[in-house]
Amino acid sequence: GKGAAMVTAVAYRLAEQSHQIAQILSEFHLTREQLLEVKKRMRIEIEKGLSKSTQDSATVKMLPTFVRSTPDGTESGDFLALDLGGTNFRVLLVKIRSGKRRSVEMQNKIYAIPLEVMQGTGEELFDHIVHCISDFLDYMGMKNARLPLGFTFSFPCLQTSLDAGILVTWTKGFKATDCEGEDVVGLLREAIKRREEFDLDVVAIVNDTVGTMMTCAYEEPTCEVGLIAGTGSNACYMEEMRNIEMVEGDEGRMCVNMEWGAFGDNGCLDEIRTEYDHAVDDLSLNPGKQRYEKMCSGMYLGEIVRNILIDMTKRGFLFRGQISETLKTRGIFETKFLSQIESDRLALLQVRAILQHLGLDSTCDDSIIVKEVCGTVSRRAAQLCGAGMAAVVDKIRENRGLDHLNVTVAVDGTLYKLHPHFSLIMHQTVAELAPQCTVNFLLSEDGSGKGAALITAVGCRLRK
Ligand code: BGC
Ligand code: MG
Repeated sequence: GKGAAMVTAVAYRLAEQSHQIAQILSEFHLTREQLLEVKKRMRIEIEKGLSKSTQDSATVKMLPTFVRSTPDGTESGDFLALDLGGTNFRVLLVKIRSGKRRSVEMQNKIYAIPLEVMQGTGEELFDHIVHCISDFLDYMGMKNARLPLGFTFSFPCLQTSLDAGILVTWTKGFKATDCEGEDVVGLLREAIKRREEFDLDVVAIVNDTVGTMMTCAYEEPTCEVGLIAGTGSNACYMEEMRNIEMVEGDEGRMCVNMEWGAFGDNGCLDEIRTEYDHAVDDLSLNPGKQRYEKMCSGMYLGEIVRNILIDMTKRGFLFRGQISETLKTRGIFETKFLSQIESDRLALLQVRAILQHLGLDSTCDDSIIVKEVCGTVSRRAAQLCGAGMAAVVDKIRENRGLDHLNVTVAVDGTLYKLHPHFSLIMHQTVAELAPQCTVNFLLSEDGSGKGAALITAVGCRLRK
């Protein structure tokens, strides 16, 4: 009768709906062949960044860092460190002690950087930074000590020495004017002068990947790679000097800041980018730039999820077809919420509670779909990151003419630390795609701040 026909119609609609949902998500599933292709293309871009003849137009910039030796344990002293460009802005005091009872002790304070400062003028940004340093020195009672300072500045910088770095381009949420093309150390020194309150000796500018690697290398000599899977995504590693054509000299090694976030900016990842990746890119502060980062890092994963959810809602698969103001809000799905939603320990009811907390009214079915969307997007992110890392470790292995390489990768970043599955999927992908390498991942807690101090200490040691 009529009832049975209706049931059939509903059943048909549901089957059709789940088919279409699966269809949308299938674009995010990468085969082993596709991942191997990503690894291969990363390798090609690495070579372009290292060669003088192609460096100019290279997307993966392979920036020299002038970090050549790892700490040897003889460094000591008190250092200030700044950490700008991750989830938090921090000022740190780091006490390094050498000898038998060598140790690193840290005290730090987190400061907010208001959005209007992140995206205001460069002068305002650096005045704010110096204001925070001043507050920290007051707090520690150290206004009169002229301390050496290491500046972890987590953006692409063209370095000509340890203490000079020209900002190539802002990434992530920053867009302060009059900084791109400028020496960031100079901007900091000028701001310190303007304040006329204290003096500091800026010794080093350090990318967070490099700080992370150095912190780990202090304890573990096989650590020659640094990885950040956080707000942004990037890696560094020890490259042979003979391969770094942009720097004179062929002896030994230097750490290279890859800036792999820009991988794909020449279109080489277009085959796997989805319409949602395009939407996220178009709405970002830097359209067309950092395309790989926009598929891999914490600042954008939630945005990809949000764009998929909007599309599914438009098609009537979610939230009763109603696009709420919340769903239209950029940045609602922070890494910590994605991580909670994907936690295996959470019941669906708790997933609904999280969505409710974000301002999204969901049914039980909605919450199942949302969780699936999150899982799909973060899995792809971890696999892509793993494919990039596989290219790096194989490059190191080939540099040394080895059939097999044992290497340690120091890792930091909110996505890596907080997300319930990202790290495991990333590790598995590296193992699958680089079978000739045994890669040991070490979490480098507080790596970027501590690392800046260690690099500053090495810099001071070599200066003597
Ligand atoms: C920056 C890198 C940084 C990474 C992780 C990227 O957006 O370009 O310099 O290492 O984020 O913080
Ligand atoms: Mg950081």
